[in-house]
Amino acid sequence: MNDCLFCKIIAGEIPARKVYEDETVLAFYDIDPQAPVHFLVVPKEHIASAAAITAENASVVGYIFQVIARLSKEMKFESGFRVVSNIGLQGGQTVPHLHFHVLAGRDMTWPPG
Ligand code: 5GP
Ligand code: ZN
Repeated sequence: MNDCLFCKIIAGEIPARKVYEDETVLAFYDIDPQAPVHFLVVPKEHIASAAAITAENASVVGYIFQVIARLSKEMKFESGFRVVSNIGLQGGQTVPHLHFHVLAGRDMTWPPG
């Protein structure tokens, strides 16, 4: 999508510190980390948010969680970690391209803000 920040990162038009990349997904560190480890995992296909998941595009979500599970082992998140996807204005989403925040390295609180 032309005007999408994460599509531009995926296309290499905006630099990012990559964690992992393959033909389907990209994982890169968040520019404004909220935990000692904070990266985002996004599908390369533009999907606006988790509210835009359909029978046609749902498989990428399972694949993203497979990648997250593998990275969590490689990065030794042995004490746990958090995965978050904000949706829409009230959900706190600021970039309208589906992404999963992966946060680790500190105790997490509940409820989230
Ligand atoms: P959201 O607020 O939509 O849930 O998450 C968007 C995330 O993207 C935020 O945590 C924000 O810090 C991050 N972000 C915004 N612009 C950039 C950027 O240019 N590069 C990187 N690496 N992260 C960004
Ligand atoms: Zn996009």
